[in-house]
Amino acid sequence: MDGIRGIGFDLFNTLITVEPWALSEAVGRLCSSLQDDGIAVEREIFHKAHRQAALQHIAETHRDGRETHNRFWISTALCRLGFALEPDDPRISRSVERYFSAFQDHCRLIPGTKEMLGAIKDRYRLGLLSNFTHPPAARAILEGLGIASFFEVTVISGEIGYRKPHALVFDLLLNRLGLSAQELLYVGDDPEPDIEGACSAGIRTVWTTYVRDRNIPLAPGVAQEQLPTPNCPTLRISSWEELLMLLDGNGDFRDL
Ligand SMILES: [Mg+2]
Repeated sequence: MDGIRGIGFDLFNTLITVEPWALSEAVGRLCSSLQDDGIAVEREIFHKAHRQAALQHIAETHRDGRETHNRFWISTALCRLGFALEPDDPRISRSVERYFSAFQDHCRLIPGTKEMLGAIKDRYRLGLLSNFTHPPAARAILEGLGIASFFEVTVISGEIGYRKPHALVFDLLLNRLGLSAQELLYVGDDPEPDIEGACSAGIRTVWTTYVRDRNIPLAPGVAQEQLPTPNCPTLRISSWEELLMLLDGNGDFRDL
């Protein structure tokens, strides 16, 4: 592609998927961790309070673009159930690690991802940009799946305090890669944070609909609404073969 020197990738539902039961197992492990630390929460009641707290904190991220963290959700949920634990309480820190251990156990690479990254790593500077609240878990997932070393730059929203689609995170990716917006191609699945966010930063985009086209369950977020269509110009692919063809200057890409 003309003038492209680097490629940025989203993580969830772009390079990897998560087994559909991971969220339920994660909350179960979180709950067990709290119980092991002597906090007598009942799983179903806690699950509901945690979900409500998560929705509340995530709604705040939509207002100002700032990333949140699971320790606030857990603290809020526990307070509502009569347990006054500050977000920085070590019992909450331990429960966060247990929560994310389920995602580490149940993430899978989209087939062909390693081969695709291997095929382009010497031709382009590669970056990873993920909205992820707990950076150590994101990095553990990348290491565990054997793809961390493909990326010269890894930007996790939880490390910088802002999340996509905020322009600051795309600017940081460009700065760390040493590229201008015109030199980067960004690949992601989620229309608003990935495609519209990158587009607003002047970056060309590829919308990957691999997961959507195959009806694979979305990586479990708290709210799973139907994904909209990007409201800006983008190319669309449904397989890594199509991305490789696009980079080679050929291939037939469907309209949105
Ligand atoms: Mg995604």
